[in-house]
Amino acid sequence: MFTKILIANRGEIACRVAATARRMGIKTVAVYSAADANAKHVAVCDEAVLIGPAPAKESYLRADKIIQVALATGAQAIHPGYGFLSENSEFADACAKNGIAFIGPPASAIQAMGSKSAAKSLMEKANVPLVPGYHGDNQDADFLQNEADRIGYPVLLKASAGGGGKGMRVIGHSKDFKEALASCKREAINSFGDDKVLAEKYLQRPRHIEIQVFADTHGNCVYLFERDCSVQRRHQKVLEEAPAPGMTPERRAAMGEAAVAAAKAVGYVGAGTVEFIANQDGTFYFMEMNTRLQVEHPVTEMITGTDLVEWQLRVAAGEALPLQQEQLQIHGHAIEARVYAENPEKGFLPSIGTLRHARTPAAVNFELGGSAEPAAFRIDSGVREGDTISPFYDPMIAKMIVWGKDRTEALARMAQALSQYQIVGLSSNIAFLSRLIASDAFANADLDTGLIARNEAQLFPTEQPAVVDVIALAAVSLLLSEKSAGSDPWQSSHGWRMNSLMQRALQFAEEHHQHKVQVTYLADGWTLRTDAGAVGIRLASVSGSGGNDLVLKIADRTVSGTVVRDGEHFHVFSQGMHTDLHYSDALAHAGETEAEGGRLTAPMPGKIVAVLVTKAQEVKKGDALLIMEAMKMEHTISAPHDGVIDDVLYAIGDQVTEGAQLLAFAQ
Ligand code: ADP
Ligand code: ADP
Ligand code: MG
Repeated sequence: MFTKILIANRGEIACRVAATARRMGIKTVAVYSAADANAKHVAVCDEAVLIGPAPAKESYLRADKIIQVALATGAQAIHPGYGFLSENSEFADACAKNGIAFIGPPASAIQAMGSKSAAKSLMEKANVPLVPGYHGDNQDADFLQNEADRIGYPVLLKASAGGGGKGMRVIGHSKDFKEALASCKREAINSFGDDKVLAEKYLQRPRHIEIQVFADTHGNCVYLFERDCSVQRRHQKVLEEAPAPGMTPERRAAMGEAAVAAAKAVGYVGAGTVEFIANQDGTFYFMEMNTRLQVEHPVTEMITGTDLVEWQLRVAAGEALPLQQEQLQIHGHAIEARVYAENPEKGFLPSIGTLRHARTPAAVNFELGGSAEPAAFRIDSGVREGDTISPFYDPMIAKMIVWGKDRTEALARMAQALSQYQIVGLSSNIAFLSRLIASDAFANADLDTGLIARNEAQLFPTEQPAVVDVIALAAVSLLLSEKSAGSDPWQSSHGWRMNSLMQRALQFAEEHHQHKVQVTYLADGWTLRTDAGAVGIRLASVSGSGGNDLVLKIADRTVSGTVVRDGEHFHVFSQGMHTDLHYSDALAHAGETEAEGGRLTAPMPGKIVAVLVTKAQEVKKGDALLIMEAMKMEHTISAPHDGVIDDVLYAIGDQVTEGAQLLAFAQ
């Protein structure tokens, strides 16, 4: 076995590989880009070497540098993870030439499966079923259109060199063919440097079912059953599970054997995934083979009690597979959810930013390597609180994987785990995943690749106004923070007294709702008046780091939650829900407190969207001067007093950091 390996990747997969290496007593070398100097994967490895600037092309894709580092540090093998160089046959070749073991298949197998078209020709010969289509070399537009007409619409065009859900076009009618072909080829050449396409029948309501295969250098090749990855957005997986609901033992064996035949046809060694597209009646066709460890491999590990990275290391070191086909068994059910920094409400647009607050559910670390009962759940993550999701790499924050004795139990555990996951600082898909898990379609295993699109109404409900409990948590958090900062209006004189009781107006805004709140200070608590009426509130307990965790007595109920303040935003996590409340102090805005009102600095990082004044312009107290957008909301910067603008320091479109001065007043 190796004594030291280099991990040519970053993020969760680099951490994942390092965990198994450590368990096996193997030393690890991390490589990192300038953007990742403080990244988790650097911290968890024994050594780390800087290989270049942030862009992947200049760092994680620099095969030459990575091999140099392996030689210099004495690493005997390189694990490529997934993405980056994992399916690059030249890299696998270069490793071999330098006497370094590539923890993956032989270069020839990567190459054979690298082109979806060529792979299909090979599979045809190996009697693996294919979707009706054309995958030959003739790329003439008229010829391809004829083929599409013959296949029958809808037809799917795919970049032969494609991956990651890119370079695909669905065509509904022959008249749209030429235009779609041109745009598909444009995307293919831009993304993959190769404009070759294939055309195939676009299946209706298909399922994505893939088989995990594993082969060694001793002629053994097994399948570790299937994963259902039908729940996708933009042809990219969101939820994955194993086993596939509704799978029969006969079909499982047929798909498993077809996958093994596919692997054997290319002389496969190591971990690989054969992806099939299946009709609702179960008939299945080869789609592509991914010649690497897959993102969703943990669900297979959980149901088979294996550690697939350990298997990879053993196979790369020349050992035989740890288990034979008849020793492999399915135990229970596992589901993975990909937690992404993205905004589902805005077309799943990736979101970037700093994880100002990240609290994961109380995960029981999964015992890798064959414990009798897998732990209920596992989180694979490459980032910690304080880390940044940058525009340079994949926006995945974490993978949450749950196990249950059956699908129902796994589903319940996933719902619970998601409800305990707290993130502040960027948009995430956590709330969306919770709705997805709870949707009738997913709960009933009514699966196909159109599940998300078809259930939009349920998955993207209109915003409901926050309930009084949530507003009370935010308000109490604010009042407590003022108290500890010594700016408690009770002590200072910012509030006003009415009938000898001190009262105060607060305002919280959601994207579509405004909440006006009247607080009355009492000796042992507060009265909170909202549109829904008045309730008495007492503080039962404060705990957690930074006093974030509150327990309140509201009327005769007990309500608990976590409140995280980020600038003027109060993020309330309670009863499995995350509510972002934008606080504006009505008193300050009414100008009662000069010092706090009308600040001229950015309340949080954001973008300038409007500049309403110019240099030397006279303004009146309260006039809107500039509008910035941050955290999905607009913030108006108003004049704190009458005066003349001396300078406007930013222009429309500029990014500003928190606290940056935006305008200056003439003295
Ligand atoms: P597929 O969707 O084809 O089955 P996977 O689900 O295995 O592929 O995802 C692979 C994708 O993961 C890559 O195409 C890439 O976008 C992304 N990726 C690559 N490296 C990393 C990483 N270190 N951390 C997170 N995501 C990554
Ligand atoms: P990638 O390399 O991007 O992973 P795939 O060929 O694996 O590309 O396809 C990605 C996804 O596109 C599949 O999981 C499936 O949802 C959809 N898809 C691919 N081929 C077809 C088809 N013939 N009919 C319907 N959907 C398809
Ligand atoms: Mg695929």
